[in-house]
Amino acid sequence: MNPLANRRLFLRQCLTWGATGSTAWLIACAGTKKQPVAKATAAATDPCSDLTGVDPTDVQKRKSLGYTNKSPLPDSQCDNCKLWVPAKEGKECGGCLLFTGPVNPEGHCTYWAPQV
Ligand code: SF4
Repeated sequence: MNPLANRRLFLRQCLTWGATGSTAWLIACAGTKKQPVAKATAAATDPCSDLTGVDPTDVQKRKSLGYTNKSPLPDSQCDNCKLWVPAKEGKECGGCLLFTGPVNPEGHCTYWAPQV
C-alpha cells in the first residue's frame, strides 16, 4: 500500500478513537508507528546518496552513465573531473554538469574527463 495512504489511515484512526476518549486505542495507535525506511538510513550515512527530490530523468541519467559513489580508479574521481561542480562551503557533496543531484567527490562515471 502507498506509504502516504498508510499514514493517512493511521492518523484518521488515531483522531477517530482519540475523539471518543479511548486511551487504549491511542496507545495502540502509538505502537503502530512506522519504522524509517532504509533509504533514509543510507542518506544519513552518505548524504551524497540521498536522491530525494531529484528529477527521475536525472536519476536515470546518472545510472546510464554508470555513476558510482566510490571510484574504482583512484586517479579518476569526480573531484578531478572536468565536469565536476565543487561542493558549496560546508557541504560534503558537489555536483556534475551532466545531471542534477548530489555527487560524491570520490565518485566516478564513464564520462570522466581530466581537468585541463
Ligand atoms: S562526469 Fe562523471 S566523473 Fe565527471 S563529475 Fe560528473 S559524475 Fe563525476
